[in-house]
Amino acid sequence: MIDAGYTVVDFEEKADVYIINTCTVTNIADKKSRQMLRKTKQINQKSILVACGCYAQVAKKELEKIPEIDLILGINEKNEIVKHIENTMQSKENITQVSEVANQQEFLDFGTVTYTEKTRAVIKVQDGCNQFCSYCIIPYARGRIRSRNPKSVLEEIQKISLQGIKEVVITGIHIASYGKDFSQENAGYYLIDLLEDIEKIEGIKRIRLGSLEPTLITKEFVERLSKLTKICDQFHLSLQSGSNSTLKRMNRKYTTEQFETGVKLLRNAFPSVHLTTDIIVGFPGETDEEFNQTYEFLTKINFYKMHIFKYSPRKGTVAANMPNQIDGNQKEKRSNLLIELSNKNEENYQKQYIGKQIEVLFEEKEGEYLKGHTKNYMVAKLKTEENLENTIKKVEVIGTENLELICK
Ligand code: SF4
Repeated sequence: MIDAGYTVVDFEEKADVYIINTCTVTNIADKKSRQMLRKTKQINQKSILVACGCYAQVAKKELEKIPEIDLILGINEKNEIVKHIENTMQSKENITQVSEVANQQEFLDFGTVTYTEKTRAVIKVQDGCNQFCSYCIIPYARGRIRSRNPKSVLEEIQKISLQGIKEVVITGIHIASYGKDFSQENAGYYLIDLLEDIEKIEGIKRIRLGSLEPTLITKEFVERLSKLTKICDQFHLSLQSGSNSTLKRMNRKYTTEQFETGVKLLRNAFPSVHLTTDIIVGFPGETDEEFNQTYEFLTKINFYKMHIFKYSPRKGTVAANMPNQIDGNQKEKRSNLLIELSNKNEENYQKQYIGKQIEVLFEEKEGEYLKGHTKNYMVAKLKTEENLENTIKKVEVIGTENLELICK
């Protein structure tokens, strides 16, 4: 939109076009997407209201019942969003453009887009997922795995490095699958090959990885990864449960033992590594014993930080029809216990840095502080008059406050 000459304003401001990128990961996400769509038109009745994203992809019929929506776009139509919006403006009719994703073979490439961020850019390298975890709708909403041509990824990163962006975050729906769909010219080129090529781009100082599937962490992968000086030593390994029987019901393809082997490989290769994870509590049939196994496993692994999700059924998935759905209070109790554990871990990790020197990539001002992140993703803040935005600087940690490091 920026490249086509539009200006982005705050969401609450009066705009000509509102784009709601909907989510469908749970029934609650669907509901929130619908609520957001209904209320947005109130800001400007004359605006064009666009619904895109995963919920629009899987539920166009439900969205067509919401009269406020002018344009419904599927996943495949997103890269021509400007054209579709302008057609809607001219025709003044409600339009739905949603094509099937299940047979989509190619990654839809946007090429280099304009970034509004100055420090960090999120680079999408892959779409779709073939894993079919029993609680997840994403394979239905996004289709099968499609990887972006490495040439296009490298060109984009090259260009943004010239704009001064220092950090790239490599993301996708399931980046562990990157390259598995390549045939002919790029056959045999996987995520690790891509990372090695990104490392060579001057100007980029940090390469951060989005969520990783634990099965990616093999000896060979870690050996090659540890040779890359720009790789951020923070890895998000989605565990979901620390109980093997629950993992099996979730249709996750690893055991806690395999997960732990991956953790050891990473900790040996990256001495200051911070590991983060996602956990679902209250998955159907999760017994007290299974939850206790999870709690013990999490204590043993000692993650830097954990994102805790209370299981929420998603219509159309296997888990939504499983017996023994867990009661809300029980989920709440289990979630609170894990949040408490996560906060305690984060605090303990951070305290170890007091009195030490750390390198921070400073991003932006927040109140009286300049804020940024360390390579292993701690939030650090500094009181300074100096203009250090988008600069990496060594500072000393003098304390912690609300799970953030105070530096001088
Ligand atoms: S690997 Fe991730 S995206 Fe794929 S089905 Fe499982 S949870 Fe969903």
